[in-house]
Order: sequence, then C-alpha cells, then structure tokens
Amino acid sequence: MKYVRLLLSIAALLGVALPAGAGEPQYFTLHDLGNGVYAAVGKPGSGAGSNSGFVIGDDGVAVIDTFQKPAAAEELLATIRGLTQQPVRFVVNTHYHIDHVAGNGVYHDAGAVLVAQKNVRAWERTENLKFWGDNIPPKVKAMVESLVLPDLVYDGSIDLYLGSRKLEVRTLPGHTGSDSIVVVPDANIVFCGDLFWNHTLPNTIDAHVGDWVVSDDRLITEHPLATFVPGHGEVGRAADVRALRDYLDTLRTDVARARTAGKEGTELVSTVEAELKPTYSGWGWYSHFIKRNISQEAAELAGTKRFPGDPWKK
Ligand SMILES: [Zn+2]
Repeated sequence: MKYVRLLLSIAALLGVALPAGAGEPQYFTLHDLGNGVYAAVGKPGSGAGSNSGFVIGDDGVAVIDTFQKPAAAEELLATIRGLTQQPVRFVVNTHYHIDHVAGNGVYHDAGAVLVAQKNVRAWERTENLKFWGDNIPPKVKAMVESLVLPDLVYDGSIDLYLGSRKLEVRTLPGHTGSDSIVVVPDANIVFCGDLFWNHTLPNTIDAHVGDWVVSDDRLITEHPLATFVPGHGEVGRAADVRALRDYLDTLRTDVARARTAGKEGTELVSTVEAELKPTYSGWGWYSHFIKRNISQEAAELAGTKRFPGDPWKK
C-alpha cells in the first residue's frame, strides 16, 4: 500500500496518469449492494453518460440500462463475466434516451433478451435524433437509426425470473412516457432509471412534471427503506428521492406563480432561476439544465410543450 501511495505521489509530481489497475473500470464505479445486486455509477467525463447495474440470480443475470457508449457496456459485460459464469438473460432499458440504450447491441450479441416499456421501441430510433437538433451529423443520424431495439415490450408491468429470483418491472409516468423501474424485492433495491437523479438536475425535455412528482411519491411510499439506484448520480435512499421530488414540485410551483404574475420568456426564466438558485446551485448539471427546466416547465403549463410521439411543429 505504501509503495502504491509513493508511486502515485511520484506520478502526481511528474504530472503523469498511471494506467488504471486491473479491476478498476474506466467508465463506471462498481458498487456491490449485496445479495448479488450491483450498481455501476457512470464516471463523470468518461462518456458513460448514465448509470447501469445488474442482478445475479440463480441461473442468469439481468442488466439495467446500457450506457451511452457501447465500449462502456462492453466493460460492464466483462465485469459481469469476471463475477459469474451465468449468462446475461435480460436487459431492461429504463426509457428510450440514448444515454441508456446505446450499448444494447453488446448484450443482444451476447444473447440477452432486451425488455422495455413499449414506447421505447417506438421512439428509440426517432426521438433520440432531437438531441442533436437540425444539424445532426450524418454519422450520428445513422448511429441513432441503427440502435438495437427491445425484443420484448410491455405496458403496465412484467415480472422477470432469474431462476427463483424475481424482478418486478413497472411503468411509471412523468419523465418520458416510456419509463420503467426495476424492483428487486428480495434485496429491497429499486433501479429507478431517470425517475430519480440524485442531487442532480434532471432532463425534463419530455417530462410531465406533475406526474413525475406523483411517481416519486409512490417510490418513497411503497419502498420507504429501499436502496435506490438512480439514472444519474450516486446510489441513494428515500430522502434523496424526496429531494428530487421536492425540486420538481418547487420548479412547477414557482413557474406557475411567475406565469400568474404575467411573466414570460427570459423574464420568467430569470425570476424563477433566482428563486431556485440558493437551494439547487450545488446540484450536478445545474448550469446545464436550470434554464431548460424552467422554460420547458413554462411550455408544459402553457400547453405548448411537445411530447414524444407528438408531430413536430415549427
Ligand atoms: Zn439519462
């Protein structure tokens, strides 16, 4: 240990980066949550784009989400292979956004069945194009349009079995209209996808924020003592889900109040931002999302917001 520390301080003095040691993943930090359940929390700046995770059962493994880069999915698959001989039987995509589905092909090629709420299949190759705007590079467009789709779609709920181990996959509204959570009842762990961002401002581009608040209330009420794996940020508890729930509720309330006071456009955005900043400026992705969250919520309340599946209007 002493020598490792010495080596690290020499490397730091020389300004060189040491190659990651064996078992230290490049794209994520692996958290062993116990009972064969693991969270892979995406490393900021790595290109992983989001969190993933997996559950080892009696005779197979289920993976939740596949990152924004196939290379990150390959790294997680190699990590799983290092822990168990069991095959990856299922992959659940928690919603259609590219940062949760881009590695689907890695698991499809490994023989897994890809499972998602039915709108993921409908929207994955079309709605993801909007993240690049009108000037999407042809290469990126081709990549999105060839993303590997779910093999098995459901609506409402579906149970998956890994031998005797049950996973409950459930649809909840609010974030995109294509969202699933994965409950591992025998470990009291819930993979929330992007219904939970841990002390991180969320992407509300497709959101019905009022429904999202209700969904987070359900997560907290139905699983008060659970461990919650978010789509973005560190693994958390009910209090952390409540913090996101309260952010969304405050965003909605403050935007509604500003609208009632006759504010709109940039004036509305700066008024609401001044109200939210003291509490939320320390959260992840604050400067990236704050103005968008406010203007998207203003559009939702005005009835002018476009949701996935709606026709595009100029
Ligand atoms: Zn995400």
